[in-house]
Amino acid sequence: MKVSLKSKLIMSFLTVVLITGIVTAVVGVHTINDRIVKQAQEKVKMDLNSAREVYQENIKEVLTPIRLTAVRFFIKEALLQNNIGPIKAKLEKIRKRESLDILNLTDKSGIVLVRSRNPTVYGDTQADDELVSKVIRGKKAIVSTQIILEEELKKEGQGFAEQAYIKFTPTSKARPISKEEETSGMMIKAVAPILDYEDNLIGVLYGGKLLNQNYDVVDKVKNIVYRGETYKGKDIGTATIFQGDLRISTNVRNADGSRAIGTRVSEEVYEQVLEKGEPWIARAFVVNDWYITAYEPIRNINNKVIGMLYVGMLEQEFVDMKRRTLWTFLMITLIGVSIALITSYFLGNSALKPIKHLVFASNQLAKGDLNHRVVIKSGDEIGELGKTFNYMADSIKERDEKLKEQTKNQIMKSEKLAMIGRLAAGVAHEINNPLGGILIYSHLLLEDTPKSSPERASLEKIVREAARCKDIVKGLLDFARPGEPRVELGRLNETIESVLSLIEKQVLFQNITIEKKLAPDLPMISFDKSQLQQVFMNILLNAAEAMNGKGRLAIKTQIPEDGFYEEAKFTDTGHGIPKENFENLFEPFFTTKKPGEGTGLGLAISYGIVKNHNGKIEVESEIGKGTTFTIKLPLKKQ
Ligand code: ADP
Ligand code: MG
Repeated sequence: MKVSLKSKLIMSFLTVVLITGIVTAVVGVHTINDRIVKQAQEKVKMDLNSAREVYQENIKEVLTPIRLTAVRFFIKEALLQNNIGPIKAKLEKIRKRESLDILNLTDKSGIVLVRSRNPTVYGDTQADDELVSKVIRGKKAIVSTQIILEEELKKEGQGFAEQAYIKFTPTSKARPISKEEETSGMMIKAVAPILDYEDNLIGVLYGGKLLNQNYDVVDKVKNIVYRGETYKGKDIGTATIFQGDLRISTNVRNADGSRAIGTRVSEEVYEQVLEKGEPWIARAFVVNDWYITAYEPIRNINNKVIGMLYVGMLEQEFVDMKRRTLWTFLMITLIGVSIALITSYFLGNSALKPIKHLVFASNQLAKGDLNHRVVIKSGDEIGELGKTFNYMADSIKERDEKLKEQTKNQIMKSEKLAMIGRLAAGVAHEINNPLGGILIYSHLLLEDTPKSSPERASLEKIVREAARCKDIVKGLLDFARPGEPRVELGRLNETIESVLSLIEKQVLFQNITIEKKLAPDLPMISFDKSQLQQVFMNILLNAAEAMNGKGRLAIKTQIPEDGFYEEAKFTDTGHGIPKENFENLFEPFFTTKKPGEGTGLGLAISYGIVKNHNGKIEVESEIGKGTTFTIKLPLKKQ
């Protein structure tokens, strides 16, 4: 499948943006969750502290009037004078004024003298009551939350035990229990000693407030801590006092709006708070809503856990807040992602535009429009690419023009040579026959002329010059059509050696050092031995002449890198060839030698021969330094 650069770009942008988006969302959601939950729990913890304060306040409200009353004159006097009757009414008045549920007086051994709420019942002993016995022994006022058994409650009058009585409401997550009702009650109870003027114990005053179905504390907590706020018609804050795991005083509501007393706490809270005596702070399902809750134990005078104080905050508000925050956050993330996507789309487009230009320009170039250029103004890598492209197009154009020019020259040159060849061949052919006649007849004349004859010298000259003409004509004919080479397999090195052995002895080569570097393992190739001997011979003679018979001549054979040819290089240290002569070097009769010394046919003939072999002849030269002629012959028949 072909995927365009654009979709690739957009895909990678998309991936990056989406991954960032998702990570941000996950981390964000997690953080918000965490923060809000933590914050809510922190708040509930504080609320529990406030609730405790309220509860302590209530304890003080019980303790203070008891203590103050216990030191009053009228009570002391009544006890000392053993005249209790008149103070009964006064105690009942105090009980009501201080809104205590009970206010009782005993003698110094704990026998009840006055039961202000229910005056007909007295004479029983309270000496084994935990608090009373402690005060008899310690003569100091104390206060504590205590469990009061049904039998004790009953002594305070019929309605009183009924206030404490609570029937259990089945609660789903509560600890299974066989009991179905609670008959005892939980009371804040204060006990104070009554002392005579010598600080001897003469009696005990005790009183208390029953917590069962008394909503003072919990409603005060609700109003002080939560200012009675509601959320969607429900109280935000709730408080409860538990006797054991039983709700005895609460403002948590049942579905019908009534207070949810009689329901019990869940088993896990039971274990944590009532059994282990540790606070519990977590979300919990309370009666019929989720709350963020805090529980702590209530202990009696012996430090035994007998109940719990609870505050709970409706979770709904936090859940909604969390949801709103999350939505806002997710919307922002979403908008961010969308903006990033749109931006990436346009960025991608603008980044790709110059590339499209480049692709178009390359196509134009490939089609042959060498003048097409790209206009890219950006200063980045793409701009750089554009510049490079234009530079490349310039070079291609220049190279193309040079190549055209060169080819044109090449064609002109070979055509010129071919034309000269045809002309020369025609002339040579025409001259050849009459020249043959001249040679034969001049020979005959020379034979018939005695040695002493004065004409003999002239005749000899005629014969010599005619022979020279014959040679020239033959050379011309060789150049024009060297004749089909008689090719056979041979070794280039051997042919060179054979030519060298012919000329080495000559005077011209006596002062020339010949350096041979002949590659030993050159393969055999097809060529006409005698024709190539002729070529090499001419090159060697030309070299020797260019060096004036003194210098170094290097001969090297090898297969060059391109691997199509076998080549022989002849490098001399002669005078070199001026540039302007390169053009004419291979033309017949081009020579720089004195008349009579060179015919100018050597290279022309060589050119014809090498061309007939499908080879190449190349020249490199530097004035004053030397010249290299290279003959290249094809390795395989082409
Ligand atoms: P000729 O040798 O008869 O002059 P060629 O065709 O063999 O004719 O050579 C043509 C010309 O090329 C020479 O006259 C000379 O000027 C030049 N030439 C050939 N080979 C060399 C060389 N090795 N060094 C310098 N010039 C050379
Ligand atoms: Mg020559």
